[in-house]
Amino acid sequence: MAIAGAAASADFTKICPLVSRRTHAQEYPELETRAVEVKDVTFGGARSVMIAGPCSVESYEQTLELAHVVEQCGGDMLRGGAFKPRTSPHDFQGLGVEGLQILREVGRQTGLPVVTEVMDPRLVETVGEHADMLQIGSRNMQNYPLLVEVGRYGKPVLLKRGMAASLCEWLGAAEYIAQEGNLNIVLCERGIKAYPSGEYSRFILDLNVLQALKQETFLPVIVDPSHATGVAAMVEPASRAAMEAGAHGLLIEIASERKDAARPKCDAAQAIGAAALTRIVEFARNREMHLLEAKAYAV
Ligand code: PEP
Ligand code: MN
Repeated sequence: MAIAGAAASADFTKICPLVSRRTHAQEYPELETRAVEVKDVTFGGARSVMIAGPCSVESYEQTLELAHVVEQCGGDMLRGGAFKPRTSPHDFQGLGVEGLQILREVGRQTGLPVVTEVMDPRLVETVGEHADMLQIGSRNMQNYPLLVEVGRYGKPVLLKRGMAASLCEWLGAAEYIAQEGNLNIVLCERGIKAYPSGEYSRFILDLNVLQALKQETFLPVIVDPSHATGVAAMVEPASRAAMEAGAHGLLIEIASERKDAARPKCDAAQAIGAAALTRIVEFARNREMHLLEAKAYAV
């Protein structure tokens, strides 16, 4: 039994020994987290990592404008999809390699590290040449050849939880990456399909899993309140809740608030603007300051 009170639990020391906290008790005592570095940003440290950007890269101008919003709001990293996993093949699929080039250029101009999704094992190198961190999306969490490929490639990986994945399946997926020698993995809770998801929010944000993860692995974990809710008005409260529940950072979708800006081609209903993002980042920074003060006081 791994988690006290849990009905049943897998033996993570056997399923995922490379990422299991229990098999690394000396290296990561108590609830210590592995520091995963993406350029000058560190996941798993005292400062949480605020990632924001558009759902999909639609143009150079749009991406640069939103990267400036991320900077001005105090964010640390830029997100944006160039290859989009859409339900219908008739929906906008992303700009592909052109989107990657835009991201790389905007990242270079602003100095913000960039994270973007890779869906195809054959494109790991191409995406990796343009991004500082490779995102494995929810739909691909169990695409094992893809996990092996990003593991071999070696750049830091943002591993999103499959929308119906158990803790065991999620950590098993991380183990595939780790087995190739890449331990620079950040987990991302992005909401699961459970009754009544779809009725008032897109998915159900599972904050319980953060504590379970902290017990079972030393890998940092962030939360994506945008896909978890699918509703812009829910993103801010979900972000605050995630930080209180112990997230090491957030992944948030934003859109331009200019009156003449085009409606995002993807996930428009969940995109927030600069004012809400600023409040979320301020909440996280204030919380960090209080935690540091409390720690200093306790010493
Ligand atoms: C995304 O973050 O761009 C995305 C598609 O999210 P998910 O894989 O969690 O649905
Ligand atoms: Mn999206």
